[in-house]
Amino acid sequence: MEKIIYILLLLILENGNFYKDIKTIYDPTTYDFLVNKNIKLNNDYIPNDLELISTNYACENKYLRKEAKEAFEKLSKDAKNLGFNIIAVSTFRSYDYQEKLYNNYVKEKGLYYADMASARAGHSEHQTGLAVDVSDSTLDYDNFEDTKEFTWIKDNAYKYGFILRYPKAKFDITGYKYEPWHYRYVGVDVATYIYENDITLEEYEKLKNG
Ligand SMILES: [Zn+2]
Repeated sequence: MEKIIYILLLLILENGNFYKDIKTIYDPTTYDFLVNKNIKLNNDYIPNDLELISTNYACENKYLRKEAKEAFEKLSKDAKNLGFNIIAVSTFRSYDYQEKLYNNYVKEKGLYYADMASARAGHSEHQTGLAVDVSDSTLDYDNFEDTKEFTWIKDNAYKYGFILRYPKAKFDITGYKYEPWHYRYVGVDVATYIYENDITLEEYEKLKNG
C-alpha cells in the first residue's frame, strides 16, 4: 500500500503544476497568505517581529512572529495543563538554512522524495515565521501521529489560530505528503473556518478570492 501511494505521489509531482508559474511575495501583510510550491517568499525575506519562544514550550533558540509565538505558547501551556507535552522543534528557518536542508534531502533521498517531504528554498512555510513543527517529549516526528499529543492538537490547534497544514489525502493540492507535526498560524477566524470545513489553505484562498 505504501508503495502504491508513493508511486501515485510521484506521478502527481511529475505531472502537476508544482514549481511552475512561480509568484514571489515581498512583504506579506496578513497572516493567512499562501507560501507553497507556486508562491515563494523573496530570498531576503526575514519577518521583522520574530520573538524567541520560551524553552518551557520549545527547544532552544526557536523563533516565531510575535502573534504566532504568543498563540503557540498559550497552546503548549494549555496542553501541558491537560497532560500533553507539545514542544516546538522547528520554527522560523531562513532562506539559506532551507536551501541547505533541501539540498541534503536531495543528496540523501533523491529529487522526488525530497520534493514530497521538503520545500525548496523560498517556498518553505518556515521562512514565514508562522509555521511550527511540533513533537511530544520524545522529539521524534515520525511517531507523532501515534501520540496522545497528536490526538489533542489536531482538534484543538484551530482555537489558537493554527491549522494542520499538510493533511492526509490532500497531496494533490498541497504537494506534500501527510505531516501530522506541521502547523501554520493563520489567526483564529481563518483557522476555525479551515478546520470546520476540512479544507486546506489553498482551498481557502481560492474560496476567498472567488
Ligand atoms: Zn514543517
